[in-house]
Amino acid sequence: MSNSKLQGSMEALLSIGAGINHQMVHLSSQSRSQGCYGCGICTSSCPVSLVGGALNPRRIVHLANIGQLTLEQAGSSIWHCLECNRCGNLCPNSVKPWSLIASLKREAISKGLISHQTYAALLNLKQELVTTLSNEIGMELAPTNATISSTPIELKPRYSSSYSSSSSSSYSSTLTNNYSLCFTCRECSSACPICFNTNEFDPLYFIRCYLFKLSPSRSSLWACLQCESCTQACSQSVKGHLVIKALQEEQAEFFNIVSQIKMRKVKEGIFNTYIDKANSLVGVGGTNS
Ligand code: SF4
Ligand code: SF4
Ligand code: SF4
Ligand code: SF4
Repeated sequence: MSNSKLQGSMEALLSIGAGINHQMVHLSSQSRSQGCYGCGICTSSCPVSLVGGALNPRRIVHLANIGQLTLEQAGSSIWHCLECNRCGNLCPNSVKPWSLIASLKREAISKGLISHQTYAALLNLKQELVTTLSNEIGMELAPTNATISSTPIELKPRYSSSYSSSSSSSYSSTLTNNYSLCFTCRECSSACPICFNTNEFDPLYFIRCYLFKLSPSRSSLWACLQCESCTQACSQSVKGHLVIKALQEEQAEFFNIVSQIKMRKVKEGIFNTYIDKANSLVGVGGTNS
């Protein structure tokens, strides 16, 4: 190749390089977005998307991969994100959609589009969501449990049938005995996105209940997002999310299908109120904008 042609090629390459959004490349590589093959598991497992919210982690990853991930393109639904990491924990290709969403939020705050006070109010809203889920689902349980008043939700020895390895409980049977290796390091509690107040919700509390064959006295059991962050954080391979699922399943044995549908409706209503409140905090009108 002649010198002038080489010079031309170099200039062309440099001009392409200048057009690359380096911040975007960095974000994509941090989130491993290039590994996405669009299966949609992240969106279908996102607790906000599950109740009809507009949040769509797969779309966020796609926008990053085509170099168009901007605050404008991502939309206001990023503020509904609970930062629970469920999308990342369940992604078969270890992509982390939540990290892209967190970066967008940081960008909005650093540009002054969202004040620190508003962000703090959004965090409070998340805490309020957990309390409301605990209280209202707890209230839902009380009247439907009227017919099973002999089995109040309070600390008591758990059923031996559910606890034994031969239990018919699907979640119980998938649990290994690892939960007995728990040495109360609290890493699960630190990793849990909804463990704001350990007296209200704490994965370790539920794990200890399971270990000591006690039924949990807290209706916050139902606030668990099943994000698996507790399980990922545990050095002893205790599967906290499965322990909670097993405890839920045990309590759900008391409910008929009508109560379960009712409970789901209550949950949807609570999440939609949360979304509406988040929208009004960030200055967006209408449900699920
Ligand atoms: S779960 Fe992972 S691979 Fe599937 S769409 Fe989401 S980010 Fe992509
Ligand atoms: S972090 Fe949680 S709420 Fe946010 S997009 Fe992922 S699954 Fe949804
Ligand atoms: S992270 Fe594991 S070992 Fe530590 S308290 Fe939680 S369950 Fe126990
Ligand atoms: S207890 Fe575990 S699965 Fe449930 S919300 Fe907390 S980290 Fe997620």
